[in-house]
Amino acid sequence: MKDYLSQDQIRTGNLILVSARHPLGETKAPGLVPALPGFEDILLAPQAAKALLLLTEDLGCQGQIVPVSGWRSPGQQRQIYEDSLAENGPEFTRQFVALPGCSEHQTGLAIDLGLASPRIDFIRPDFPYRGICQAFREKAPSYGFIQRYRAEWESVTGIAHEPWHFRYVGRPHACLMTHLGLSLEEYLDFLTGYPLGSPPLLCQAGGAWASLSYLPLSALTEPLTQQQLAGRSSSLEISGDNKMGFILTRWE
Ligand SMILES: [Zn+2]
Repeated sequence: MKDYLSQDQIRTGNLILVSARHPLGETKAPGLVPALPGFEDILLAPQAAKALLLLTEDLGCQGQIVPVSGWRSPGQQRQIYEDSLAENGPEFTRQFVALPGCSEHQTGLAIDLGLASPRIDFIRPDFPYRGICQAFREKAPSYGFIQRYRAEWESVTGIAHEPWHFRYVGRPHACLMTHLGLSLEEYLDFLTGYPLGSPPLLCQAGGAWASLSYLPLSALTEPLTQQQLAGRSSSLEISGDNKMGFILTRWE
């Protein structure tokens, strides 16, 4: 994070929305690390990989749940899209494979997971609503992950139901989204109701209090320093939404 918040950071941070309506475009690849030890060719942003490791250690599910696909370059996403078009046809591809530039796998914050098996479907890995996979799903928000594409959100996300696709958004956002039953699209709209300067949204996560505020791009008429934005809070996280503004997460 730079010392100053400026408009060009709208496409960075744990809460950026990437979809067909909100493409990420060509961005610099994030700093990447292996998604989990032993899976050196499947990469994630460091904060997502760290949370995934802690979550799998907490559940003791190493070897039972395996990463299938993490970060993808725009070129890799194009190849997956074209391969799926050729193999599965346009109807299937439109439902399950995002267009190049429109996949949140490009952020390094999304991971497809599968139940370990000798044969794993790359596009639709098995991740059932029972057993260890369901235990993972229920614990995921405490570590900052959400199941991104639920059946009831298809009209909102534009992507079909994907039980295997998890997105890192960080705490307290994952807990709050789960508690409120909101998709990422709906959650970002909801947060615009807490503009900086008005009372923030207060929430508790892991024993600490966080206050959440929204800073619209239109209010950022000049670069603001981290210090100006942090106020009296002990730490500050800023994420763009890849749309119209920034979400400020201040820890008390
Ligand atoms: Zn995915």
